[in-house]
Amino acid sequence: MKQVYDVLIIGAGVVGSAIAREFSRYILKIGVLEKELDVCYETSGRNSGVLHGGFTYKPGSLRAECSVEGNAEFDKVAEELDVPFKRTGKVVVGFDKKDRESLLKYKAIGEENGVPGLEIIDKARLQELDPSAGGEFAMYSPTTGILNPFIYNVALAENAKENGVDFYFDNEVIAIERDNDLYRVVTKKAVYQTRWVVNSAGLNSAKISSMLGINGYIIGGFKGEYFILDKKAGQFINMPVYPAPGPTGGFATHATPTVDGNVLIGPDSVLVDDLVDYGATVSAMAGLIADGSKMFKHVKPEYFIRNFSGIRPKRIDKETGKALDFVLEVRDEAPNTINLVGIESPGLTSALPLARRAVKMFSEKEPLVPNENFYPKRKGILCFAKQTDEMKKTLIEKDPNYGEIICRCEMVTKAEIIEAVHNSLGVCTVMGIKNRTRAMMGRCQGGYCETRIVEIIKQELNKTTEQVLYKKSGSNMFTGTVRK
Ligand SMILES: Cc1cc2nc3c(=O)[nH]c(=O)nc-3n(C[C@H](O)[C@H](O)[C@H](O)COP(=O)(O)OP(=O)(O)OC[C@H]3O[C@@H](n4cnc5c(N)ncnc54)[C@H](O)[C@@H]3O)c2cc1C
Repeated sequence: MKQVYDVLIIGAGVVGSAIAREFSRYILKIGVLEKELDVCYETSGRNSGVLHGGFTYKPGSLRAECSVEGNAEFDKVAEELDVPFKRTGKVVVGFDKKDRESLLKYKAIGEENGVPGLEIIDKARLQELDPSAGGEFAMYSPTTGILNPFIYNVALAENAKENGVDFYFDNEVIAIERDNDLYRVVTKKAVYQTRWVVNSAGLNSAKISSMLGINGYIIGGFKGEYFILDKKAGQFINMPVYPAPGPTGGFATHATPTVDGNVLIGPDSVLVDDLVDYGATVSAMAGLIADGSKMFKHVKPEYFIRNFSGIRPKRIDKETGKALDFVLEVRDEAPNTINLVGIESPGLTSALPLARRAVKMFSEKEPLVPNENFYPKRKGILCFAKQTDEMKKTLIEKDPNYGEIICRCEMVTKAEIIEAVHNSLGVCTVMGIKNRTRAMMGRCQGGYCETRIVEIIKQELNKTTEQVLYKKSGSNMFTGTVRK
């Protein structure tokens, strides 16, 4: 007889993975169904990587509550899960009277939300905090930070897995049926039985809601494109620099340092119908350069190394077209389901607070028994490039694979690639290696290391060249040999 899950979670983005981890604190049979071949292939791997302070969200809203809570706890979370994180602070800059009014408004909102330390600062202080920032004055948020979004998602999923959660990749949910007291969740590969379903399917959350019998949600895809700047530009920026929000409240293009030393310029915001098209467009580039240059003085073509985009899954009001708050609900028409819809920004910051609330909703219906074996810590792959010379020597003595550099731009060694290939989630795409090690994220974007990584995957997992996938099912990188 097929096993019956207590909880099946749809979607292994940062939210689904956080929910899996929080449920694994209790004695439950938990599974995660993900349509892609790894975590963080969608929105959770396509964002600014900012741990938001929580000053732009309506007081009393779930977004405000969760972002303030998620921000406050993140030092501990980053330490437990070994996630690269820096509490850099952030400046929201202004140029004129209108901007000053906007900053005063958001300072008051932030204070109502409980965001600590917000202050309006003059140009001299702004320049002291970040000499490369544009703007005549600013609001300074000392609690804002930056984190590695790929590693955070991987870490949550790995920790959940270590605590007993099953992950099923390449399993797109296409139907959900209620059969007596159980759900039959049908994917393109198999059928799973479960007592509870959690919908954390991001851009597809309205579709999954309908499969559960909860109709009427509309997800508007707001695409945002970015430029990634070289680490040479990263030396000039200390913290995220955002423009004062306009009348609709959203932030326009900003400049954000990454924890690894690059700079992101973007995102813009364009309503799109196609929720799977992540293409970077020529039309966005001029705007990103013009707007980004107002935030950061070093937006120069020689620093551009790559473009990417993400799509915000905004929940839209049918009548007004306005974006609405996150939904996290248990509804009578869909018993034993927890439904999350419209988890747009700040979903990265809010993932664990949302997860705790989801578990609490479950516990209001059924008692939970703590899992005495729950272990909250997870250790990431040791980054050779960040070690002292002495430590590097010791590592090479222990394992000569530390002595072979595979990615020259990011100085990633063969030992790190091998560790990533044997990740506990069983992911074996080239993209999976990239997200776990930073190999291919440097200046040459894989020109040197990509084929070497393919060779390591082949050797370690006993695969043929033709079997190696770049990212998705069907993304085979090689189809045969040109010359024998
Ligand atoms: C441009 C941009 C910038 C952002 N910047 C920030 C920021 O700086 N800070 C911040 O806090 N937040 C930010 N966000 C928001 C944040 O990235 C998201 O809120 C968060 O990643 C949402 O996580 P999720 O797990 O809900 O969604 P996702 O990461 O999209 O995960 C949902 C998962 O469900 C899977 N799925 C979908 N349908 C199915 C199906 N039928 N069957 C199985 N699996 C399915 C998908 O493949 C996906 O992996 C930003 C978002 C964007 C787009």
